[in-house]
Amino acid sequence: MKRQRIVAGNWKMNNNFDEGRDLTISIIQKLGPSGTLAVLCPPFIHLNYMSTLAKGIANLKLGAQNCHTEANGAYTGEISAPMLKSVGAEFVILGHSERREYFGETDDFLAKKVGAVLASELRPIFCVGEKLESREAGEQESVVSSQLEGGLFHLSAEQMSKVVIAYEPVWAIGTGKTASKEQAQEMHKFIRSLVAKKYNDNLADLTTILYGGSCKPDNAKELFSQPDVDGGLIGGASLKAADFVAIVNSFPDSK
Ligand code: PEP
Repeated sequence: MKRQRIVAGNWKMNNNFDEGRDLTISIIQKLGPSGTLAVLCPPFIHLNYMSTLAKGIANLKLGAQNCHTEANGAYTGEISAPMLKSVGAEFVILGHSERREYFGETDDFLAKKVGAVLASELRPIFCVGEKLESREAGEQESVVSSQLEGGLFHLSAEQMSKVVIAYEPVWAIGTGKTASKEQAQEMHKFIRSLVAKKYNDNLADLTTILYGGSCKPDNAKELFSQPDVDGGLIGGASLKAADFVAIVNSFPDSK
């Protein structure tokens, strides 16, 4: 069995209802059948309608950008995993650096969110990645390994088999600075080795690991040609249908 290739679009807090509908329709018109799964992660308000648009398209799924740890209750302003499931989401991005930085999300809190997502039979896209100062100090591997330990490695192997990991060096997100293909490959290989050590080689081999950070149509091909890069988590470029679909189609034929 081969690993699943995924290109996920993180729209962040962009697109009102009409803009989101138009972007989705445009992506659907451009997206041909392919072995790569495209996952659109819009703001919550779009999910219900977008799931009606995406119905029946085998290589297009929907995801959310966050959810709460609890299924329901007095948590004003929050959205739960069962709610996301009820409007057609299949994935949830967790631990994005913007959530860690601006909303103070810790590894412990994220571990609870991962549990909530899996309990609703949704799949977490769990983000890890170092800041510039850690990269400059050569500490990128210890940062990433502690994020994985704290947020994911309490899971059983069965649970872990549902998780997608996204390596997103914080210094590359929204900055136009992309990790080189060598930097991406080195970190993805390291992450896979940690999954193998914690679980087993087979699970590590099947784990989809995405790269995120200023991934665009003109650099996706070389990033996706790396043996341990199984796709991308795309911010800015996911807001343009042609760019997003070009990235979805950026895997070499041999992969
Ligand atoms: C992201 O926010 O997950 C991301 C990768 O953003 P960008 O592609 O804009 O760097």
